[in-house]
Amino acid sequence: MSFLSASNLSRIITCPPSAFLPKEKQNFSRNAAKGTNIHAFVNRCIELGEDNARQELPARMNGKAVIDRLQVPEILKDLSDIRSEVALRWDAENDVCYVLGENIGRNYYKAGAKDYDIVGSVDIIATNNLTGNLVVIDVKTGMQVVEAITSEQLQALAFMVARSMGYSGSVETRISKVNEDGTVDSNFHTITPEELSILELKFKGLRNKVLDNLNRYKTNEPLDLRESDHCKWCACAKHCPLKNAEPCLYIREDVEETK
Ligand code: SF4
Repeated sequence: MSFLSASNLSRIITCPPSAFLPKEKQNFSRNAAKGTNIHAFVNRCIELGEDNARQELPARMNGKAVIDRLQVPEILKDLSDIRSEVALRWDAENDVCYVLGENIGRNYYKAGAKDYDIVGSVDIIATNNLTGNLVVIDVKTGMQVVEAITSEQLQALAFMVARSMGYSGSVETRISKVNEDGTVDSNFHTITPEELSILELKFKGLRNKVLDNLNRYKTNEPLDLRESDHCKWCACAKHCPLKNAEPCLYIREDVEETK
């Protein structure tokens, strides 16, 4: 199943064929497990309240040290109508956005999404009590610093949330970065309705580019492959014609010199 996942859009924009080339299953690292647990905890705080969520925590789990010190109110302050882990689908072919549900475990296919739909899950959707605007928050864990203003993931999610909810105002996007000591650093960006219309064209254009590359892939024509930092984490690397075509600079130990 080849969805255009919001979390992969930055890589797909750089290298459209990475959306459909065969992928290797990637190992689930300890850091990924830690990130998943922190997200799950924030989700439970929204569902149950922080005190109740803390009471149900297991004694040992990846990320426990961060969770024990996590300043949850920093993430949720000035927000109301809070919903968490909301899955969305943009059926670009028919130009309709849907809320697929909450906590669907990223099982977009089961929830009705089709190949090459743009899909994604929002960590938090809420209303800003001070401005009345819709707020879309991505909770980040890892070392990487991400800015809301440049996050293609947040741009796509903001568009899908606004469209699926029939909301026509500005959308506030926010990255809330959870640090190792439990503190939270947030950065913000507001997307106007006019900018949302431009983003719609941007992502529709991207989808068309992916489909054009897919047709070329099927007829063995050249693809718009582009190497970048994304290659380091790309699950397609083993099957990528560009990576495979790369000349090896070193002589393998088991290859003998010939005259
Ligand atoms: S390895 Fe790099 S060049 Fe190849 S598909 Fe992935 S992102 Fe593109």
